[in-house]
Amino acid sequence: METLTVTGVSKTFGGPRPAIADLSFTLGGGEFGVVVGPSGAGKTTLLNMIAGLVSPDTGEITLNGGSLAAVVPERRDIAMVFENYALYPHLSVRRNLEFPLRAPVRRGQLSRSQIAARVAEVAETLRIPHLLDRLPSQLSGGQRQRVSLGRALVRRPRLLLLDEPITHLDAKLRHEMRTELKRIQRELGVTTLYATPDQSDALALADLVVVLDAGRAWQVGSAADVYERPANVTVARTLGDPRINLLQGRRDATGVTVLGQRFDAGQGPPGPVTVGIRPGDVELSTQPVLGAVAGRVLLSQTLGYQDVVYVDVAGATVRATAPAGIAARPGSPAWVRLPAARLHVFETATGRAL
Ligand code: ADP
Ligand code: MG
Repeated sequence: METLTVTGVSKTFGGPRPAIADLSFTLGGGEFGVVVGPSGAGKTTLLNMIAGLVSPDTGEITLNGGSLAAVVPERRDIAMVFENYALYPHLSVRRNLEFPLRAPVRRGQLSRSQIAARVAEVAETLRIPHLLDRLPSQLSGGQRQRVSLGRALVRRPRLLLLDEPITHLDAKLRHEMRTELKRIQRELGVTTLYATPDQSDALALADLVVVLDAGRAWQVGSAADVYERPANVTVARTLGDPRINLLQGRRDATGVTVLGQRFDAGQGPPGPVTVGIRPGDVELSTQPVLGAVAGRVLLSQTLGYQDVVYVDVAGATVRATAPAGIAARPGSPAWVRLPAARLHVFETATGRAL
């Protein structure tokens, strides 16, 4: 199992700002790393640099301690799967899976029966043995994605790179493939780096999360770390419910005041702060509650399994989730309580967590 290190890597394509700026992280052997960030964040550029398709301007990338700088892409033993499957349309699934093992760099390394055994094995892992004689055009989107994953894995790469492999699938299939990816990665133990704009992929899959935006790593850590202790506002917005409340507050020597309530909140310099709290963490009631502040319902949006209620509290809008069907009609009174332990306090000027 191969450890991947990225150290001080930067890349500028000639635009005003770098596509990747001074990026560093270490992905342990056999781990599942997720690079999460919006379109244009630099995810593909990062993966391309690791695969050897783009050269970094500065910095170093190593696999198990060995620098990749002088290794051409074909010799890196790194497999990459893209959103579009890039299968050969005129070849059967079986031939598509065999293809990487017959490529010039591999030629002669494996016998015909070894190749057949490898293909059978990977087809088993991906649960596609019944599809081997079909053409790509005879497959569903999810099945094609399995085949392209199989084609990447059949070479037993040292590192697997996945560039938004399931973004285009419909919600149900995306959910299913996400679970499958995790199972397959665990079964094979291959070190994997997965790029996605979808924060739920990151929380569901990652041993290590790299939150990327505008080419910068805003935080690197376990899923629990980045979710529970976002290092800055960008991370708080990226991970978890995107409807997170970011409320203006003030900090004094010993605590924070927000929505007219005061909380003890660790050490930090006095000044304006941004207080983040996820809608699921806000306690909402249609009755007065001790320790809650009164407000008025602006609107209520149903998600089916729950509602998101927008409440005006002294001019600030607070979003709170509530059981579906809660009697929260626009204009009706509501009370919100912010549990101190669920608050994330950021310095407003820098966006950094306090
Ligand atoms: P993501 O995959 O997160 O959407 P990309 O890595 O594709 O982001 O792009 C990051 C930034 O680098 C974008 O601003 C993009 O326009 C720019 N970029 C990427 N590849 C090239 C290229 N080959 N030439 C010029 N600019 C590029
Ligand atoms: Mg991309």
